[in-house]
Amino acid sequence: MTETNPLPPTGRMPVVFLAHGSPMLLDDAGWVAELGAWARAMPRPSAILMISAHWVDAPITLSATDPVPLVYDFYNFPERFYRVTYPAPGAPALARRIRELLGGARPVAMAPKRGLDHGAYIPLVCMYPEADIPVLQMSLPTLDPAPLLELGRALAPLRDEGVLIVGSGFLTHNLRDFRRGPTPTPPAWATEFDAYCEDALLRRDVDALVEYKSRAPGVHEALPTHEHFVPVLAAMGASIDLSEPVQFPITGFTYGSFTRRSVQYG
Ligand code: ZN
Repeated sequence: MTETNPLPPTGRMPVVFLAHGSPMLLDDAGWVAELGAWARAMPRPSAILMISAHWVDAPITLSATDPVPLVYDFYNFPERFYRVTYPAPGAPALARRIRELLGGARPVAMAPKRGLDHGAYIPLVCMYPEADIPVLQMSLPTLDPAPLLELGRALAPLRDEGVLIVGSGFLTHNLRDFRRGPTPTPPAWATEFDAYCEDALLRRDVDALVEYKSRAPGVHEALPTHEHFVPVLAAMGASIDLSEPVQFPITGFTYGSFTRRSVQYG
C-alpha cells in the first residue's frame, strides 16, 4: 500500500528533525504508530536524505548508492535487532545532485560500502515500511552549529525537488541517565532544556539554537556530548530563508530524560 499526498501549493517538501529512539523503538507500538502517521501526513518524497547523529565524518561523506547491508551500530541487544533489514533503493541521482549543489564550496566524499546506521533506518522502518523510496545518508561533517546551519541552507533546494531532508538525533541525550521500562517523571534539566528548544524552534530563533551551549538551561546534563543535538541545526538551516509553519508531530519523554520532540518545518 502506498499512500500519496500531493505536494503543498509551494511544491516544497517539509524538512524534519526527528528523535530516533534506540533499536528498542521497534518494540514501542505507540511510537512506531506515531512515526507512521507522521509520514503518511506528509507528501510522499521522491527520495530521502538522512543526516544521522551516528555518522560524524569530515569532509561531508555520502553513503552507498547501491544496496548494501545496514550498519548495526549497537551492542548487546537481543539477536532479533540484528536481523532487521531495510532494503531501500539506493539514491545515485540524489548523490549526484548533492555533489552539484555543494561541490563548488565543500568537498563531498563517497563511502560506497557504507549502509544506513540505526539512527537512519530505525525511523525509516516505522515511517516508510515498504522501503520503496531511495535513501541516501550524509555524514555530519562537524558538530559546530553555525556551519551545519549553512549546510542545511545549501541543501534547501532539494526540498523543491521532492526530497525529504531528515535530521536524526535527540534534543536531549544523556546515556548515563538512560532508564528502561516505564518512563518516570523527567528531571527538571530535561524539561527545561526541551522547553528552551521548543521556544527557539517555534520562534525560528536561530541565535538561540546556535548558541545553545552557552544559553540553554540544563545543557550540561541534557547533552554530555553533542552529536545527537546538532542534526536539528542542519534541518532548521533548510528552512531558514523561508517563512513557513513549524509543528511538533511527536513530543513527550522516553527512557527517563530523552525528549521525543520531533520537528517539521513546512
Ligand atoms: Zn542515537
